[in-house]
Amino acid sequence: MRSTMMDVPLTLPYVLERVQRYFPHGTVTSLLAAGMDAEGRPIPAKHRYTYADMARRAKQLANALVEAGVRPGDRVATIATNSYRHLEAYFAIPCVGAVLHTVNIRLHPEQIVYIVNHAGDKVLLIDNVLARLLPAILPHCPTLEKVVIMGPVPQQIPGALDYDTWISGQPDTFTYPEIDERAAAGMCYTSGTTGNPKGVVYSHRSIVLHNLGMTHPSGFMIAEGDTVLPVVPMFHVMAWGMPWAVPMVGANSVFASVFSDGPNLARLLAEEKVTVTAGVPTIWMGLLAEIERAREAGEPYDLSGLRELVVGGSAAPEALIRAFDRHGLRIVHAWGMTETSPFGTVSRLPAGVPHDSDEGYRVRAKQGRVPPLVDVRVIDDENRDVPSDGRSMGRLVIRGNWISGGYYGDETASRNSLVELRGPFGTEQWFDTGDIATIDEAGYISIQDRAKDLVKSGGEWISSVDLENALMGHPAVAQAAVIAVPHPKWDERPLAVVVLREGAQATPEDLRAHLEPRFARWWLPDAYEFVESIPIGSTGKFMKRELRDRFRDYRLESADSPA
Ligand code: AMP
Repeated sequence: MRSTMMDVPLTLPYVLERVQRYFPHGTVTSLLAAGMDAEGRPIPAKHRYTYADMARRAKQLANALVEAGVRPGDRVATIATNSYRHLEAYFAIPCVGAVLHTVNIRLHPEQIVYIVNHAGDKVLLIDNVLARLLPAILPHCPTLEKVVIMGPVPQQIPGALDYDTWISGQPDTFTYPEIDERAAAGMCYTSGTTGNPKGVVYSHRSIVLHNLGMTHPSGFMIAEGDTVLPVVPMFHVMAWGMPWAVPMVGANSVFASVFSDGPNLARLLAEEKVTVTAGVPTIWMGLLAEIERAREAGEPYDLSGLRELVVGGSAAPEALIRAFDRHGLRIVHAWGMTETSPFGTVSRLPAGVPHDSDEGYRVRAKQGRVPPLVDVRVIDDENRDVPSDGRSMGRLVIRGNWISGGYYGDETASRNSLVELRGPFGTEQWFDTGDIATIDEAGYISIQDRAKDLVKSGGEWISSVDLENALMGHPAVAQAAVIAVPHPKWDERPLAVVVLREGAQATPEDLRAHLEPRFARWWLPDAYEFVESIPIGSTGKFMKRELRDRFRDYRLESADSPA
């Protein structure tokens, strides 16, 4: 029997119409670079307008794109930071039926060239502050027909158009083409730790459903009345889909473009009375240092409106969660990846568990549970579910309406990313995340490592993430990364690479004593290397591959460690 329900396509034009119709007075505030000071640092300047302005300009951009020959299915690239113009592109490009391809601005120009060519981008929108990349890119990207510079054009780039001038003569109403909800709307390339980057393609339907997940109570509870600052970049996993989800529910948007340092963020969060913000742990470490500095200086920031700081992208150490709690600020831990749009799990506490109890901290340091429409399993090498005991490690697999089932133009990688598993609904395809996790009885996952980052000592797995988080709980430690180094007897043993806080001191013995009560002896790092800094990659995470290269020939002094 067929239902009598309507079948309305889930598409981004619907979201844009909703924003314009119901939330015209919602605001978009962008902190932009207005120029450079004498020391070459960007000078911040604020831009503010409403969602009514945004929708009008997005439609002007849509008309300009159509006039430039952009057709449904064409790819339009952006190389841009978080700002109102980028937001306009987020709506306009999918609304003409084209594909918004956000390019990670921190990649090497060679990688940018590779992914622009792989995607076959037709038009490029680029921030003025990033226009310096163009000479290294343009000669090698034959598919690019048009380059448009967002913000005042800094120098003469032959053939490049000024965005504001380009859209200004266009009508601010737009007739949408018919769009299939399963058609491509956006694409992102994963950072690609081995081999070439791989393209993940989001559909209109997956984005709209992800918007509902992001704003849902079991997600991030975003609603009208909220003001949301995604520090997560619009060039990495679509800023967690926030540029679409936030306006859709009528919450205000705040963007920080190049200003993700502690002092600028603290000021912006306070001035704009931001209620929800999201970023990777390194961003919040910088913010914490600034909050503590300001408090000691007797000029504390008023962050009383800040309800939640969502952290994801790398594990949030329990010490970081506790440190923010001491300032009355709530860290909420989430997990996801480019292939999961990215919302996979969030650690919301079970009813009745106080957030500042030991049990609360234990749960909050986990990556959490899935929202509706997404499911996870943790499986062993024979694809059997590991026990849900919070201890047994296995491969994390995930399935759902906003989870990728393959990669653009890469059949081998697509096939390898999926695993067939039996379940209550028959045999299904699951996406193999490449993460190693545990899952407990209540369904909370805890990420132990990337499969390739695990330390395998004498055939047993050691979680580098657990060790790092514990090390970062030591008062003298600013940052810590644990990597595997070759060992003649045990294959691999953990080496801790540590950055000490300014002016702080700690010896390897101190750090070992700090870890000893928490871990089995054979888990303890064999050695500690103190360094000035740990390399951070294009997405704000420790670049362990670089560390592994650097310490490839490291010779452990103790020839047989695990006792
Ligand atoms: P990306 O696709 O670049 O966003 O990277 C996704 C990867 O980041 C995941 O597969 C995890 O390895 C890691 N990741 C994301 N969030 C977390 C988290 N909360 N804790 C630990 N690792 C995380």
